[in-house]
Amino acid sequence: MFTLIDLPYAPNALEPVISAQTLSFHHGKHLQAYVDNLNKLLHGSGLENLALEDIVKKSNGAIFNNAGQILNHNLYFTQFAPAPATEPTGKLAAQIAKQWGSVDAFKAEFEAKGVGLFGSGWVWLAAEADGTLIICQEPNAGNPITKGLTPLLTFDVWEHAYYLDYQNRRAGHLSALWGIVNWTEIERRYGK
Ligand code: MN
Repeated sequence: MFTLIDLPYAPNALEPVISAQTLSFHHGKHLQAYVDNLNKLLHGSGLENLALEDIVKKSNGAIFNNAGQILNHNLYFTQFAPAPATEPTGKLAAQIAKQWGSVDAFKAEFEAKGVGLFGSGWVWLAAEADGTLIICQEPNAGNPITKGLTPLLTFDVWEHAYYLDYQNRRAGHLSALWGIVNWTEIERRYGK
């Protein structure tokens, strides 16, 4: 049985970037529904005892969609903080500088790939085994873990992530999200 993760901050802590109302629907309704759906679907599937990451790697169809959405949202909600370090440091910062030249150039490509993703999905910063970084678009419930990459940072571009606060302004939402990205957590995931 999987359970809904607790948010590591108060419901209104990410305002005005993400409102308490959006968090209450996104975490309390959308993510809760994926958890409930997966628990029903896993019954009798033979995948009941696997870790979430392994279910995502081994499944397809409805089980993949719900497990992927749980993994994606767990990574998404735990990467934010109300007053985070605003820039990456250490080896992650050095790798971004090496590949993009500047954090601003990296952010511009990340936002453009989020804006340019047609329909619902996720834009990801992921790492290859040697530490090389890649920005990738994944439709629907996709996660770069299925391609052998380590997921580091993700912006949810499903409309449920921003419509109450930003309506159709996906670009404005993605741009604002940088203000709450907890780079300390992204660096921990990078592990370098
Ligand atoms: Mn979502």
